[in-house]
Amino acid sequence: MGVFNHPEFDHHDSIHCLEDPASGLKAIIAIHSTALGPAAGGCRRWTYTSDDAALTDVLRLSKGMTYKNAVAGLPFGGGKAVILASEQAPKSRALFEAFGRAVDSLQGRYITAEDVGISVDDMRIVRGATPFVSGLPQDGAGAGGDPSPWTALGVFHGIEAAVAARLGKDSLAGVSVAVQGIGHVGIYLCRLLHDAGARLLVADVDGDKLKSLAEELPAEVVSPSDILFCDADVLAPCALGNVLNSDTIPRIRAKVVAGAANNQLASAEDGARLTGRGILYAPDYVINAGGVISVAREYLGDSTEDQVRSEVCRIPRRLERIFADAESSARPTNVVADELARRIVAEGDDRAPESQPTAGRLIA
Ligand code: NAD
Repeated sequence: MGVFNHPEFDHHDSIHCLEDPASGLKAIIAIHSTALGPAAGGCRRWTYTSDDAALTDVLRLSKGMTYKNAVAGLPFGGGKAVILASEQAPKSRALFEAFGRAVDSLQGRYITAEDVGISVDDMRIVRGATPFVSGLPQDGAGAGGDPSPWTALGVFHGIEAAVAARLGKDSLAGVSVAVQGIGHVGIYLCRLLHDAGARLLVADVDGDKLKSLAEELPAEVVSPSDILFCDADVLAPCALGNVLNSDTIPRIRAKVVAGAANNQLASAEDGARLTGRGILYAPDYVINAGGVISVAREYLGDSTEDQVRSEVCRIPRRLERIFADAESSARPTNVVADELARRIVAEGDDRAPESQPTAGRLIA
């Protein structure tokens, strides 16, 4: 597959393919847009079936970051990195140092953080090679650390907003929520949902995670192949992308889809498919922005944890506006959100370059 004619290319600013034979690092950093500021987005480590699959993933994810940061009102563009996992290149200090050097070579055009398959400890190693990294533990009351609890908090309040809009309920008490994936975000989300009185249905491909959840919370375990289609009010995809597609959507029984996973829709048309079935979809990059709000504020060094919390708690208001606009204009929610994001980016593009934050100025 070519790059410039790649279906997901979408005028990316730049794409960087990195190889470090000494550590085994193979990675791609994609910078989609710097119109609103340096491109910020996490680093994913994943076993891809091919280099093409990795390229497609990073292009979709980095564009999603442009939209996410724009709608969240953050002074950052969109970018993302993927590290191609393999037996020949296990996680190691040398691998993350090499990745850090690659990030550093971009001189602040791209700022990295955790995503799937990457821990806070990995990012600590990256920090040794570059200052252009966030998602690190902080001292005192400043924002920082693992973004997952913040992502979960935003998703939780987003679910509340979606349930109010679609089911007319002002509480999650008694509402059933099917959570696909109980990893970093999913587990925090389950705790919040349980505390709010929701009934949990959960699935994960990792049996150990299900076992430790069962020791903590009451939840019905569903097989990974059934979780998308189970009898629940809300489906919360919190694993990987592309789960909402022409094959799965006709079989979804939930009335609300609202979860943390990036790129839940396999294609933009799948938003219309959900609307056609009367399912309210909370656009992924709007509802899951809590984590990037935290890492952005950590990086800027301009907020306390309480300020991050109040910023994350604005996510449901954004969703309510998108839901209302979608209903009044009879358009799918993903179309309304994309249009909003593109408008914000276009306005940023029109700003004088000197009014945009630079990486140098951003470092606290
Ligand atoms: P994670 O890797 O910690 O958790 C993902 C979980 O999904 C794992 O437990 C994994 O075993 C499980 N899983 C994988 N395939 C599955 C399947 N087919 N069925 C059921 N479970 C499956 O990742 P995370 O950090 O919790 O992120 C989850 C999703 O949310 C990802 O798409 C990520 O990009 C997105 N996201 C995460 C954050 C964050 O702050 N961590 C922020 C925004 C978006």
